[in-house]
Amino acid sequence: MKRRPALHIVTLSLLFSLSTGLAACTTTSTHETSSLKPSTEWVAHAPDWRQEALDVYEEASEYVKIQSEKNSALSWAVILDLDETVMNNVAYQVARDKAGLGYTSVSWYEWTQKKQASLVPGAAEFIAFVNQLGGHVAFVTNRRDTEQLATEENLAALGLRRSEDFRVLLTKASPNGRSDKTSRFNLVPEILAAQGYPNVEVIAFIGDNIGDKPETVKGWKFFCIDQGAMYGEPCAAVPGPGR
Ligand SMILES: [Mg+2]
Repeated sequence: MKRRPALHIVTLSLLFSLSTGLAACTTTSTHETSSLKPSTEWVAHAPDWRQEALDVYEEASEYVKIQSEKNSALSWAVILDLDETVMNNVAYQVARDKAGLGYTSVSWYEWTQKKQASLVPGAAEFIAFVNQLGGHVAFVTNRRDTEQLATEENLAALGLRRSEDFRVLLTKASPNGRSDKTSRFNLVPEILAAQGYPNVEVIAFIGDNIGDKPETVKGWKFFCIDQGAMYGEPCAAVPGPGR
């Protein structure tokens, strides 16, 4: 009987320590995540985002497979946007959120020069599949021409090399190039013709913004990656968590 109070005190003491520890963990976790916007948090940490990207690329793969059977090799192409479609820049957004800052062209330029973007899930596999099926891969991005070299080096570090994995990469001209991609979309077949591949038809566009496809529908299909509504005008049906 004499041991019970002592045991009780030890148990209470342990419980107190555990609850204090748990509270501390909870506080730290909440503090770490609360500085991120929900869109950033979702892209950075939620498995659903990864699965959504994989699903879109799987759907696009099925489409190009069918199209490749109707078109001869090297007579067709796919145009992809880069940021949040092929290149994952959520690390930039996490750093900006934690600093309580938004996007600026200066901080974005600095980020691109670090060449630390990772891959959007499914992108590299899709690009390899298009090449395997006999299609051309072209990138049309609103990264600026001043960022082109670092962008290509970042892509190469991710295993995506010019000529081997993609044939065209069109950036936005500095300082006053248009964000509208229409004229650059139209240039892709011309550039491929200059490379020795005439009469190439673009059969699909892949992007994360509404401007990642032409306004005029003309025999192609558009596939949209949900980037959590971090940037621009997202094209996902319901952008971000909870789609
Ligand atoms: Mg994009």
